Amino acid sequence: MMLPKERQAKIREWLESKHSLKISELSKWLGVSEMTVHRDLKPLIESGVAEKVFGGIALARPKPGSAEQPPAADECALCQRKIEQRLAYRLILEGNRIESTCCAHCGLLRQKQWGDQVIQAICYDFLSHTTVSARTAWYVLETSIDIRCCQPQVLTFERRNHAEGIVKGFGGIVMSFEEALAYIDKSMGRECPGCS
Ligand SMILES: [Zn+2]
Ligand SMILES: [Zn+2]
Repeated sequence: MMLPKERQAKIREWLESKHSLKISELSKWLGVSEMTVHRDLKPLIESGVAEKVFGGIALARPKPGSAEQPPAADECALCQRKIEQRLAYRLILEGNRIESTCCAHCGLLRQKQWGDQVIQAICYDFLSHTTVSARTAWYVLETSIDIRCCQPQVLTFERRNHAEGIVKGFGGIVMSFEEALAYIDKSMGRECPGCS
């Protein structure tokens, strides 16, 4: 049996990948009553992460004039490097605050620091430069391609097979969001030229 906090984290994860959820399916997946699901959803709705829709919830859309037009931050929130759009990692925080970092290295570290306050994070596919949800992205670490940003380098990909293709050609390790987060967090004990 999961704790309410664990169920809420799970719901938030599903919400980010599916964008909307039904109360009835949540009740089934979590193995709790619909009453309990309603109680779990309350804080998510109150904090503006989710909004009520018929029979369930949906990922809240940013309110006009706030998250939709983020101030064009051009300095990394962590290391103050100048941000290059194609490498950037953006964090949407509670209260419609947005933070940008120079690359996924700094992005993952900020993600770790903010913890539960991160509503959504977005990065760019290394090849196509289209936006990808950080949670569903694939990460390549320790590759020999030099992106001229922070060490250890973190490259982001929308598709796993593209990440694997890069590793085949240039070395490195393919990781999921959770794995990359843990790896970068651990590596911070080591010397990090990009961040010093
Ligand atoms: Zn940075
Ligand atoms: Zn960087």
